Amino acid sequence: MQRLQAFKYELMPTGEQQRDMRRFAGSCRFVFNKALALQKERHEQGEKKLGYAGLCKLPTEWRNGTETPWLKDAPTHPLQQTLKDLERAYTNFFAKRAAFPRFKKKGQGDSFRYPDPKQSKLDQSTSRLFLPKLGWLRYRNSRDVLGEVKQVTVSASGGKWFVSIQTEREVEQSVPNGGAVGIDMGIARFATLSDGTFYTPLNSFKRHETALRKAQQAMSRKTKFSSNWKKTKARIQRIHSRIGNARRDYLHKTTTTISQNHAMVCIEDLQVRNMSKSAAGTAEAPGRNVRAKSGLNKSILDQGWFEFRRQLEYKVAWRGGYLIAVPPQNTSRTCPCCGHVSADNRKTQARFACVECGFEENADVVGAINILRAGHARCACEVSGAVMPPAAGTRRSDSHRFDAGGSAVGIPRL
Ligand SMILES: [Zn+2]
Repeated sequence: MQRLQAFKYELMPTGEQQRDMRRFAGSCRFVFNKALALQKERHEQGEKKLGYAGLCKLPTEWRNGTETPWLKDAPTHPLQQTLKDLERAYTNFFAKRAAFPRFKKKGQGDSFRYPDPKQSKLDQSTSRLFLPKLGWLRYRNSRDVLGEVKQVTVSASGGKWFVSIQTEREVEQSVPNGGAVGIDMGIARFATLSDGTFYTPLNSFKRHETALRKAQQAMSRKTKFSSNWKKTKARIQRIHSRIGNARRDYLHKTTTTISQNHAMVCIEDLQVRNMSKSAAGTAEAPGRNVRAKSGLNKSILDQGWFEFRRQLEYKVAWRGGYLIAVPPQNTSRTCPCCGHVSADNRKTQARFACVECGFEENADVVGAINILRAGHARCACEVSGAVMPPAAGTRRSDSHRFDAGGSAVGIPRL
């Protein structure tokens, strides 16, 4: 089994290397923005947009031109890679996966990528990495790089520089550990497992929100671009990266634990992108319950449900298990004991009490049990080669529906 994995380290560049990296990231940003402007212009004039091959000729032109000769100082491959990114942004836009590509701003996601492994050299014994036009860079060697280096990405965040080394290697297919589990995602409890264990939300953003707000207010009082303004801006960036680090760390720990102990993981197929869409709506169609929804959206984004699922998916697969996403219909309203489906089963957010048989349990655990059952049902259908199960809730709720149908045509229910 081939495994693609990235290893990220903090760089310890010299002053000159820092200046060069800032310039290279700036050159990439310049090329990206200029190419995007050109594509927009062509579109307005009714011309076809340039493909990647056409785009790739541009940097050479610009490097050799009189207006931007400084582009010559930047490495060629990263400049072309940024055009690849632009091309992908357009593809994602046309496939309705993303918004229209936007111009890049200085200090936001500054990065550049070396796609050719032949151009870089990695010396792990001395914790150094060679990159074209930068020379040997020292990095904080926190763990070994495993596998063959495929590409190298340099990025800046919170005033620090990082390198991400993407590798490829052959690993033995491992035998998964443990059984099946269902996971219910929520706000009050980040994740609840069908066996009753749960993970509280980290809410790293909330914890840092006050500090962030204070820093932002402080910045608004400073004269723009003054040295105090820059200092406060750096403070804000540090808080942001701290939030991000805490969240990533928490998500990785949680998904690692879950994937280590379960061979089959079932989760709700929540459309996180839809749920976290702007609640404000547009001028023509203003959103409803904007305040409540934006609170929910913030919580969802803060907790990183999408990232949680992404990590679970690859970590479970690495261990030879699999992840099953089930449609979320009725998972919170179905009684796991008797199969009765009713909104009345869940009078409060936290408690589940079946109006039919009186079964009581924490509502999130009930949700997780139903998700696990739906996952089993889906899995059984796929194994037997039958068509995919209907996009409805659980096995229990399906049988409940058949019962109702039976009584409708006069067959007495038992
Ligand atoms: Zn019941």
